[in-house]
Amino acid sequence: MLNESLLKTALMGDCSPEHIAALTPLQAISWAPLKDRGIHLSVKREDLIHPGVSGNKLYKLFHHLQFARQQGVERLVSFGGAYSNHLHALAISGQLLGIETVAVIRGERPPQLSATLIDCEANGMQLKFVSRQEYKRRHDDDYLAMLKRQYGSCHIVPEGGGGTLGAQGCSAIARAINDAVDRPVDSICTACGTGTTLAGLIVEAEPATEVIGIAVLKAAPAISQEATELVAQLTHKPSSNWRVESRFHGGGYAKLPEELKRFIVEFEEQTLIPLDPIYTVKLFWGIKSLAEQGYWPKGSHVVAIHTGGLQGRRGFNGIWQ
Ligand SMILES: *Cc1c(COP(=O)(O)O)cnc(C)c1O
Repeated sequence: MLNESLLKTALMGDCSPEHIAALTPLQAISWAPLKDRGIHLSVKREDLIHPGVSGNKLYKLFHHLQFARQQGVERLVSFGGAYSNHLHALAISGQLLGIETVAVIRGERPPQLSATLIDCEANGMQLKFVSRQEYKRRHDDDYLAMLKRQYGSCHIVPEGGGGTLGAQGCSAIARAINDAVDRPVDSICTACGTGTTLAGLIVEAEPATEVIGIAVLKAAPAISQEATELVAQLTHKPSSNWRVESRFHGGGYAKLPEELKRFIVEFEEQTLIPLDPIYTVKLFWGIKSLAEQGYWPKGSHVVAIHTGGLQGRRGFNGIWQ
């Protein structure tokens, strides 16, 4: 949707996250599992922003990038794994803005890098592979201080582009949904890794709208806690109309049982909307299961946020070959 020069304009802060979120379509989707029960489903297509800096990652990075530019730092340092949509978005953003990027990655450098990390290196990102033990320290103050000494003039972006700066950017998505509908929607659903996006949505959703986070890993309590803390930091009157669903992680992070592989193929055939293999597949699977369990009464309006991540499909050739 955005070409490189418009993406650069957006990342420079020349237009706000609200402006970008108002551009992405909120599409009414006819999908049997919901339609047959009289439930309206709309999909907020954040996957259409840009193939490499897609979905929630642009919103999560936005304020981190503005902060880094205001501080005039020379590099951005962050954390992630071999399929990280966050590192992919960060590498492209740094390249466009002329800021160096460094990624701290768990484990030894494999002989064959993932397509994601190949792109990261091609965009000038320095990959620093560290032991599992060292990676565990990514939230510790003394470890971050050590990285700061090592990398000098830098801004450290938490894993996944988190923190209050990340959540703040994601609020724009909820605001755009509020503005696009005549009456508040009943639920806004998003896939959760860290809970940062969820927190941003909770802060701006209408009081009548329930925000549902579908955890894509087994750590639902940690996601709830992270969202609670971020929401408390961002607003003085937090909403309690939200929850994290723990039942749809499909065996854990990046685990894709056969049932979910079949689900992807069926969903894409029925809706013509492409899914990513780590996040959005579990989001829509969760929504389908909730609908089947009678979670929403007839006439409800449910919005699913397509948070992007489609670059990650390249690692899962088994499905899309
Ligand atoms: C990173 C990511 C998420 C999870 O976002 P959090 O803010 O960490 O919960 C969801 N969907 C996609 C496609 C992502 O890349």
